[in-house]
Amino acid sequence: MKQLQRAKIDAFKVHFRGDVLLPSDAAYDEVRQIWNAMIERKPALIARCVSPEDVVQAVKFAREQNLLVSVRGGGHNIAGNAVCDDGLMIDLSLMKGVRVDPNARRATVEPGCTLGDFDTAAQAYGLATPLGINSTTGVAGLTLGGGFGWLSRKYGMTVDNLLSVDVVTADGGQVQASETENEDLFWGLRGGGGNFGIVTSFEFQLHPLGPDVLSGLIVFPFDEAKSVLTQFARFTETMPDDLSVWAVTRKAPPLPFLPEAVHGKEIVVLAVCYAGDPAEGEKLIEPLRGFGTAHGEHIGVQPYTAWQQAFDPLLTRGARNYWKSHNFSQLGEGAIDTIIEYVGTLPTPQCEIFIGTIGGQTARIAPEAMAYSSRDAKYVLNVHARWESAAEDERCIAWAREFFAKSQPFASRGVYINFLTEDEAGRIAFAYGATYKRLVELKKKYDPTNFFRMNQNIKPV
Ligand SMILES: Cc1cc2nc3c(=O)[nH]c(=O)nc-3n(C[C@H](O)[C@H](O)[C@H](O)COP(=O)(O)OP(=O)(O)OC[C@H]3O[C@@H](n4cnc5c(N)ncnc54)[C@H](O)[C@@H]3O)c2cc1C
Repeated sequence: MKQLQRAKIDAFKVHFRGDVLLPSDAAYDEVRQIWNAMIERKPALIARCVSPEDVVQAVKFAREQNLLVSVRGGGHNIAGNAVCDDGLMIDLSLMKGVRVDPNARRATVEPGCTLGDFDTAAQAYGLATPLGINSTTGVAGLTLGGGFGWLSRKYGMTVDNLLSVDVVTADGGQVQASETENEDLFWGLRGGGGNFGIVTSFEFQLHPLGPDVLSGLIVFPFDEAKSVLTQFARFTETMPDDLSVWAVTRKAPPLPFLPEAVHGKEIVVLAVCYAGDPAEGEKLIEPLRGFGTAHGEHIGVQPYTAWQQAFDPLLTRGARNYWKSHNFSQLGEGAIDTIIEYVGTLPTPQCEIFIGTIGGQTARIAPEAMAYSSRDAKYVLNVHARWESAAEDERCIAWAREFFAKSQPFASRGVYINFLTEDEAGRIAFAYGATYKRLVELKKKYDPTNFFRMNQNIKPV
C-alpha cells in the first residue's frame, strides 16, 4: 500500500472539515465497503467530505500527492468505481442535504443523497422527478449516467430533468454548469458519468405526483412465460406515457400474496406503476390480468415513496453481483425465447433477468442533445447474477455472460453506462455511440491528464 507521510496527511486535515480515515481507523473497513461485495479494494486514505470546500481540498491533496482518486456517491455502481486500491477515496455520502422549492418545483440535492432521501423530501410537497427503482441507490452516480425509473416514460431520463450543477474540476476549481453557463460541461455531465469533475450540488426540475400511486405486481407461472412476455412486448409498444410496466423473470421470493407452493419456483412478474389518476390507471392495467393465469397479484394505491422501496429487500448491499445489459428497440421472439431458456437455468435463487421499459418522453430528445444518447432504447434488459459465496463466482458469471452473448443478436444500439461491469471498458464507445467523439474532446478540455479515471472512462486521446 502507498505510504503517505504522516505530516502531509496532518497538513491536509487542517483545512478539511470532514473525517479522514486511514486503514488503521476503526471505521475504515465499513466506509470502504460498497454495494457489490465482488469489489474488495483498499484505498490509502478516505476523505469523508462534508462540504464543497472539502471536495476542493481533497482534489488538491490528491494532485499534490499524485494519488489515484475514486469518488463515492451512493456506492451502488456495479463496476465498483467508487473505491480504489492505494489511492484517495473521496466519499460524498455524508453530504445529504435536499432543499425543495415547492413554488418553483425545483430541488437542490447534495451528492451523498440516496434516491430515498430525495424522494422523501420532494414527496412532502407531492412532487418528484424520475429516479431509479431501488431507494438506496445514490442520486449522484445514477444522474450522471442518465437515470431512469417508473416516471421516465412520462418525464424523461433523470438527466432530462437536471437544471444545473456545481462542479469541482480536475484542477480543484469550482464552476457552475447549466444550459446557459459552461454549456459544454453541462452537456457532458448529463450522461458522461464522473469523467469531468465532482458534482457537489444538483438542481432538478420536479413534477406533481401522487403522493399515492397505483402500483404493484402481478405474478404469472413460468410455463406461461412465452405467452405473457409476448403480450407484454405488444402491450408496452402502445401503452400511454403515464403507465410503466416492467417484466422480471426469476425464482419466486416468499411473498405473502403467493401460495407457498410457488415460493422458489420460476415466475414471470409484471411490475406496474401508473403516474396519473389511479382510477384511470385501474382501467388501463386490466388487460394485463388476462395475460395468463396469475399465481397472485399485489396491486393497489400506495404512497409513491413506499413503491420506490418495494424492491429494496431483494437488492440489499453485501451480496456478490455481476451484471450484463443490452438495450432493445423492440422485444421480439428471439429475445423472449433466450430469456426463457436462461431463466430455466438460473444458477442461484437471487439471479434474475429484468426488462425495464422506457420510451415515451425519453425518446423525444435528440440523441446529440446531451452525452446520454440511447434515445431509441425502449427496453433496458439487465441480466442480474447475484449470489453469496465466492465459490459460486465462476458458475454465476458464466451464466450471465452466456445469456448476454446469446441475446446480443436481438439487441439494438448502445448500452446503459450505469449497468456496465468492471470488465466492460471495451463497451464504453459503443455505449455513447453518436456522442462519444464529442465526449473525448470535452475530456481533453476539462481533464487532459485523466485525473478522474475511476469511472466508465472516456480517455482524453
Ligand atoms: C440495486 C441497484 C438498482 C439500480 N436501479 C437502477 C435504476 O432503476 N435506474 C437506473 O438508472 N440505474 C439503476 N442502478 C444503477 C445506478 O444508476 C448506478 O449503479 C449508479 O452508478 C449508482 O450511483 P451511486 O452514486 O450509488 O454509485 P457510486 O458507486 O457511488 O458512484 C458511481 C460512479 O459515479 C461517479 N460519481 C458518483 N458521485 C459523483 C459525483 N458527485 N460527481 C462526479 N462523479 C460522481 C463516480 O465515477 C463513481 O464511481 C441501480 C443500481 C443498483 C445497484
